[in-house]
Amino acid sequence: MMDYTGKRVSIIGAARSGIAAALELKKRGASVFLSDSKARADWKNQEQITEIIECLQQNDIPFELGGHSNKVYDCQVMVTSPGVPADSEVLTNAARNGVKIISELELGYQLCDANIIAITGSNGKTTTTALVGHIFSGTNINYRVAGNIGTAFVSVVNQLGRGDWAVLEVSTFQLEWIDKFRAKVAAVLNITPDHLDRHGTMDIYRALKLRVFTNQDNSDVAVINADDPNQRGYEPAGKFYKFSVSNRVENGCYVEKGTLYLNIKGKTQAIIDAADIGIKGPHNLANACAASTIAAAAGIDISTIAAGLKSFTGVEHRLERAGLIGGVSFVNDSKATNVDAVFWALQSVPAPIVLIAGGKDKAGDFSTLNDLVRRNVKAVVLIGQASDKIAATFAGITRMVRAGSLEEAVESAYKIAKPKGTVLLSPGCASFDMFDNFEHRGQVFKSAVQELMSRQ
Ligand code: ADP
Repeated sequence: MMDYTGKRVSIIGAARSGIAAALELKKRGASVFLSDSKARADWKNQEQITEIIECLQQNDIPFELGGHSNKVYDCQVMVTSPGVPADSEVLTNAARNGVKIISELELGYQLCDANIIAITGSNGKTTTTALVGHIFSGTNINYRVAGNIGTAFVSVVNQLGRGDWAVLEVSTFQLEWIDKFRAKVAAVLNITPDHLDRHGTMDIYRALKLRVFTNQDNSDVAVINADDPNQRGYEPAGKFYKFSVSNRVENGCYVEKGTLYLNIKGKTQAIIDAADIGIKGPHNLANACAASTIAAAAGIDISTIAAGLKSFTGVEHRLERAGLIGGVSFVNDSKATNVDAVFWALQSVPAPIVLIAGGKDKAGDFSTLNDLVRRNVKAVVLIGQASDKIAATFAGITRMVRAGSLEEAVESAYKIAKPKGTVLLSPGCASFDMFDNFEHRGQVFKSAVQELMSRQ
């Protein structure tokens, strides 16, 4: 375990992972300085920044907001946050000064003796991570679920010792700045275009995702998706497990005639009927296969895996049931911030669908949805900045309506959907043009549905 006593550490970014890193390092005797380029007044959520400032003051952690002064470079290690671009001035300057730059994920690794499960991919990370955690809850193992899923990894390191397990949801932004980080079990769920606005090309994005396997050796397990063309040809150094919803695999989980099987060391056993899995839709079948493979790689037995798959009901804001009026059901898929997630959502809820889409564009290609929209979508209600772009893509394919707010969108969508079908919020875009985050967008949707239900 790395000793930070007396080390000078600068932390860039005052969001959740930065604050968690600052608090933990302070506790461990480091001399910490926190810096954020955003001024206090520019924080969207003023209550939140007030809380952050109070927390830093109470813990005696010096900080600056609204820009990075030279003080930030007076350190041996810099911990950067997911929101800071790799080519930003502060990171470039620090690197030039010989400062070691790491992510909070790397820091957590340096401070943690437990076995690590790292789950990454373009879509399904949170669902699969939560599902793996749920499977662990059926064992006597001491484990924590952390990472991108909500709780920063560094904030749970003190609750985990040797032989325990950290189940981590990991993003490419965290993988950009790893050094020695090594997962006992690492999984890449899928690689589809996402965040191309930040990462540039698909090749760079793919390489970043596969970084989750670096530093693994043959006592570790790499889990890959055998159905994903973007992972084909990859030969990791660790033991190699696969999962597939369409073909048999050696070492891993696959689906055949509606049943999930696990094949480990040449032995094949049925886990569960796909129909008995708690979460629905073709993409969730892939997530269930991934979670089973990961849990098996961590040594969990088949009956515990099966019980976990059966009793897991999913995660808020991911194809979550939000209400029912007559024959029209409302589904909150606010977490669908890229086009691929919408692609799967359109195949997971009953048609005819009235789709609410739009938000802050992430350079996604909506034309990949054309066939599905033609088949399953009665109308699209457009919200936010990406409205024009989406309207141009679907012109002539489906009916389109614009809404000035999400509340208005729910109202219009319901009117169009009546008497039966699904009103689906699956925006395919980020939320930041109109909301604090996707959770906020999902809450507004659910409240609007509740309000509409109360008027019926
Ligand atoms: P992440 O944490 O990677 O963003 P989530 O589990 O939060 O993934 O799901 C994000 C969105 O992607 C949701 O809309 C969900 O329905 C959809 N989704 C979940 N799993 C998959 C998958 N394996 N492939 C494609 N889309 C998926």
